[in-house]
Amino acid sequence: MALRPRKYCPRCGGTYPESFFRLTRVAHACATSDRRPICKLCEQTARDEKKAAHRWVHKMRGTRARHEHKLGYPAGTLEKLYGWDLVQMAEDAQRAYAHKCPGCRKAFSGMVHGLGDISLDICDRARAPFYLNNVGWLCVTCNRAKSQMTPDDWAEFCIGRDIWIRQQVIGSPQKKLPF
Ligand SMILES: [Zn+2]
Ligand SMILES: [Zn+2]
Repeated sequence: MALRPRKYCPRCGGTYPESFFRLTRVAHACATSDRRPICKLCEQTARDEKKAAHRWVHKMRGTRARHEHKLGYPAGTLEKLYGWDLVQMAEDAQRAYAHKCPGCRKAFSGMVHGLGDISLDICDRARAPFYLNNVGWLCVTCNRAKSQMTPDDWAEFCIGRDIWIRQQVIGSPQKKLPF
């Protein structure tokens, strides 16, 4: 019996049964196959990534508008005068989200609200809110705790909190440090 045809996906480098490739709606005159060139799973992944990127940009639009409102700036100020570019912000936030909150050193992925757990902090509110040198990403809990603190007050607070946590652990060796 003849082997059933298989097809190569240049995106993931795998070779799969033809059912792995969606049928093209209208066959091109020059097409050698009535199947799409990229496998279904690669197509789905590309769609998911696009959707995820879109969600981050959407979130950043809200973040920027809220900060602008809080600062009492007219719309567009943070972008034009202080460099708050949505695409850049979305990329940075997404990258930060993959790691730990620099304040409490807990992994964002372990928190329960997804995108809602990460927030943008203007590090030093006494200075101009330049995106390049005066913003950072904190979990919502840390951002709330920091609130109006100066950068030095915040650093001191975090050190104090570490001491407090160690204090709790002393005498109960089965308790593990949360970081
Ligand atoms: Zn593929
Ligand atoms: Zn935190």
